[in-house]
Amino acid sequence: MTNHDDVAVQLRTVDESIRRAERDFGRKAGSVTLVAVSKTMPAERIRPALVAGHRVFGENRVQEAQGKWPGLRAEFPDLELHLIGPLQTNKVKEAVALFDVIQTLDRPSLARELRKEMDRQGRQPRLLVQVNTGAEPQKAGIDPREVPAFLAQCRDEFGLAPAGLMCIPPVEEPPSAHFALLARLAMEAGLPLLSMGMSADYEAAIQLGATHVRVGSAIFGARNPVSAQ
Ligand SMILES: *Cc1c(COP(=O)(O)O)cnc(C)c1O
Repeated sequence: MTNHDDVAVQLRTVDESIRRAERDFGRKAGSVTLVAVSKTMPAERIRPALVAGHRVFGENRVQEAQGKWPGLRAEFPDLELHLIGPLQTNKVKEAVALFDVIQTLDRPSLARELRKEMDRQGRQPRLLVQVNTGAEPQKAGIDPREVPAFLAQCRDEFGLAPAGLMCIPPVEEPPSAHFALLARLAMEAGLPLLSMGMSADYEAAIQLGATHVRVGSAIFGARNPVSAQ
């Protein structure tokens, strides 16, 4: 038998510091949603978080999520699952069927496929546009300068209405400038949701307006480095 009590304890610690950050930074109580990032973690390590009452989770791979979430959802039907990793167009069908929120809309070809699958399945996952705030060549996401045009294209060409923006700042830079940029882009576009901040920097993200923080290792512990991506 493995003891997973630590997950419930760490979940509560993170949740308390989110509520404290809401108070400290003048955010409305309950305005920040904790997305517990359970990638690489087996179902038996996720279950204690569900038993403790947590319902919002993030996964970065469609196939891995398909292996563990349908079973957990049978037990906890009211959970909310977010896709926070890159989405290939050939996995859109599975992603639309499984996820409630897709945070990584980052190109027109993906928007086109999402439109098709959403119509086919009659499911409407919420969409966030991933923004490459650091303009890193190897990283997914819309260039910050292209965000207004991409949002207009989503609306006019595909009939999609993304609800917000998400970013993963460059690892080697202080994240706050990236959070501030994302917040400004969302405000200019009139979008209510902002997914930013991870284990190391979610408090700074809350200060700058995050509505969703994506926290993995601070809740579930370190991931196996081989499968950490
Ligand atoms: C893994 C991951 C996280 C969580 O990272 P931690 O540092 O473990 O909190 C957040 N966002 C994305 C997109 C991730 O892939």
